[in-house]
Amino acid sequence: MSRARILLTNAALGPLDYRVPAGMAAPPGTIVIAPLGPRQLTGVVWEAEHMPSAGEVGDNRLRNLIARHDAPPLRPELRRLIEWTADYYLAPPAAVLRMALPSASALDGGRTVLEYRLTGAVPDRLSAQRERALARLAGRQGLVRELAAHAEVSDAVIRGLIKAGALGPVEVALDAPYPAPDPDHAPPLLSPVQADAAGRLAAAVNARAFQPVLLDGVTGSGKTEVYFEAIAAALRAGRQALVLLPEIALTEPFLKRFAARFGVMPVAWHSDLRQSERRRAWRAIAEGQAQVVVGARSALFLPYADLGVIIVDEAHETSFKQEEGVAYHARDVAVMRGRFEAIPVILASATPAIETRHQVELGRYQELRLPGRHGGAELPAITAIDLIAQPPPRGSWLAPPLVAALGETLARGEQALLFLNRRGYAPLTLCRSCGHRFQCPNCTAWLVEHRLVHRLQCHHCGLVAQPPAICPECKAEDSLVACGPGVERIADEVAALFPDAPRAIVTSDTLWSPARAAEFVRRMEAGEIAVVIGTQLVTKGYHFPDLTLVGVVDADLGLAGGDLRAAERTFQQIAQVAGRAGRGAKPGQVFIQTHDPAAPVIQALVSGDADSFYAAETEARRLAGAPPFGRMAAIIVSSEQANAAVETARMIGRAAPDDGQIHVFGPAPAPLAMLRGRHRHRLLVHAPRSADLQGMIRSWLGGLNWPGSVRVAVDVDPYSF
Ligand code: ADP
Ligand code: ZN
Repeated sequence: MSRARILLTNAALGPLDYRVPAGMAAPPGTIVIAPLGPRQLTGVVWEAEHMPSAGEVGDNRLRNLIARHDAPPLRPELRRLIEWTADYYLAPPAAVLRMALPSASALDGGRTVLEYRLTGAVPDRLSAQRERALARLAGRQGLVRELAAHAEVSDAVIRGLIKAGALGPVEVALDAPYPAPDPDHAPPLLSPVQADAAGRLAAAVNARAFQPVLLDGVTGSGKTEVYFEAIAAALRAGRQALVLLPEIALTEPFLKRFAARFGVMPVAWHSDLRQSERRRAWRAIAEGQAQVVVGARSALFLPYADLGVIIVDEAHETSFKQEEGVAYHARDVAVMRGRFEAIPVILASATPAIETRHQVELGRYQELRLPGRHGGAELPAITAIDLIAQPPPRGSWLAPPLVAALGETLARGEQALLFLNRRGYAPLTLCRSCGHRFQCPNCTAWLVEHRLVHRLQCHHCGLVAQPPAICPECKAEDSLVACGPGVERIADEVAALFPDAPRAIVTSDTLWSPARAAEFVRRMEAGEIAVVIGTQLVTKGYHFPDLTLVGVVDADLGLAGGDLRAAERTFQQIAQVAGRAGRGAKPGQVFIQTHDPAAPVIQALVSGDADSFYAAETEARRLAGAPPFGRMAAIIVSSEQANAAVETARMIGRAAPDDGQIHVFGPAPAPLAMLRGRHRHRLLVHAPRSADLQGMIRSWLGGLNWPGSVRVAVDVDPYSF
């Protein structure tokens, strides 16, 4: 008989053994259905002819595999990636496997699904709820469940609308092929520097060997145009290409640029896809029919049939680091996938991470530089505004030089962008008479006032409350005041200064889907917006030729945290947002408001001397033994019971191996000491590069027990340290 070891998509378990029934072919990688207790789970054959060792379940007690899914097997390269990811990030292999497989229903079954969309018929008598649902469903299509979620109504309301004829069925073919991108559709005329970089990337693709490349070019230098040529090379070789983007909001502009270059849209993969789109894309990717995929970090684990190149755009972005579930860094996993697949991995960035630059210095990554903006566009002039010398008037946040520049920009009919990384109206609300501050009951965080929707919100757990009319503490009336600015408050200030200038607030509250992002881009391009007030969401990727002024409202915000990455992150963020200014024929200018214009990071931005700033930051890391010079992991211990959390954290700290290699800092309250009702303590583990940090943590934690109410999560290569 044949005995196979199966990795099930169930987080709690490692691989389990099953009997392969006679007549079933189940080579490694085959996607199968296996029984577990009363359930039937999807799994993947990890070892085909497993030889049991003593102590393992005997052959006669094995259960039979139920069936094979009708899908291509997972290739060995992807299986290795899953194993590596689980191993490196100390995550259950099954949790990693789940990122490679869609839901079981997507693996089989029919080649069509039935979705619903508006028919145009409007029933005579509509309840208010149904009417609201209809308004929200304009242009939407999906399963009953998806439409209900989108309209924020129950499934029954949607079914009622179907019965009433307002929604009608549409049959969606799941095996409809995607149109093929044409590498010769509209090739650009590249500058000599661009052409040289593009030629090297194409050569790397054709070499079919592992090669990480840092494509390091200032904002507007044409990095996208250049890496498009790597995609073209993959297409000509008949292979697939993957582009990872940091935000799904950037997908839409990317799709348009891609279509202009290659004639058709690439295949998008992100959390906002409908189930039918997800099923269709997954299969086309696995069968090699989908040739170019653009997606969020989760697209990294898809079962590409024949991947030829991976591109990580804006590779320095923090959103590539996943914090929940499997805590992995998509940039680093992309490089590993490139190694296993033996293909180049291109990291594109104007402000690469210190870790990435270090790999270049070590000679492990190739570097291609694009030193100037394309077409003679100049980099913007950057000026610091000293908020102590030139403070904004009382109760406002924009200093006189920035207001003057804003006025001139608007008078010329150009566009401006004000950047403040704070959603809502004000980050803190307090009572003037008793000092009461509105804090989230579940998190160590203030409730943020969102005046547009008249709510107080926690940005960490999503708690929403009505702003009360009286202070809940002292019952004073009209005593609540908003402290500090958020983007909504800046928008109010702009409205008061320039009432005729059309404004747009761009945050994750307003730009939560690719469609909304597309609408924003359209309005910007049509000149329907004069001033954008936005968070980090507007700092990257966008290209608006008439945008000539960028104002950074509070450059000190990111430096306050005080972790070792604060200056680097501030530099990246401000350099990126500054990069939005003056990308076309008109020159751009940037004003940075700060209380500390002498800070090295502000000086580096103003002088444009990134290299010496990086050198100093890298040296600071070296002295601290921090990454990339040492290894780090954070152990986060959390519980709803404060005592259990702190005691477990201390117990783990006491049990730390004393091998002279690792150092443990803490436990101390985690950066968010309470999150979603759980008390959190953190131990930071620090080891030299040569140490087997994961192995040490595995045996250290593996020998310990803690109460069931306590969760212990390990974050390897934590973002903040
Ligand atoms: P980056 O990604 O480095 O910020 P982009 O690739 O977005 O730069 O290029 C900036 C702008 O310049 C885009 O509008 C792009 O289409 C244009 N551009 C860059 N290189 C060329 C070229 N060789 N020919 C035509 N347009 C170009
Ligand atoms: Zn909260």
